[in-house]
Amino acid sequence: MGARYVHISEEEFDEFARSKSFLRTNDPMLHANEIIYERHARHGMARMLIYSTISTMGGGGRKVGSDAIRLVLQVLRDTEWGGVGWKAKRVHRTKNWRANLTSRMHDAAEMVHTETCPLCGHAMIKRTGKHDEFFSCIMWSKTGCNGSTR
Ligand SMILES: [Zn+2]
Repeated sequence: MGARYVHISEEEFDEFARSKSFLRTNDPMLHANEIIYERHARHGMARMLIYSTISTMGGGGRKVGSDAIRLVLQVLRDTEWGGVGWKAKRVHRTKNWRANLTSRMHDAAEMVHTETCPLCGHAMIKRTGKHDEFFSCIMWSKTGCNGSTR
């Protein structure tokens, strides 16, 4: 099994993240001993985080095979970032990690509408109805906002 995994250096990860328009986050609310990258949706109400497994203490990734890269999707509710019920997607550090992580980014991007809620300005998230998919306001459960693409 060990041979399936590859070592990823900090420089390699940085280069990949930048090529996907991700930057190292400076969000003080995110405490981690690994480097976290973020990319915001154009409207600013959603973001993706990559938990890189690259140690903030230098020396590259954690022990090979010991953990996976995670892609997390969050939205802003008022001033607080939080999850959307879209489970963090894991990417194992095998030689295809770049392609696999890129594919997860596409999945995450598809969850969030490019426009914000017409009623309150928050992000709209993909929902699956009985007969169709649509996007509706993330604040529905909090404020009852009915903004949607329906
Ligand atoms: Zn709304």
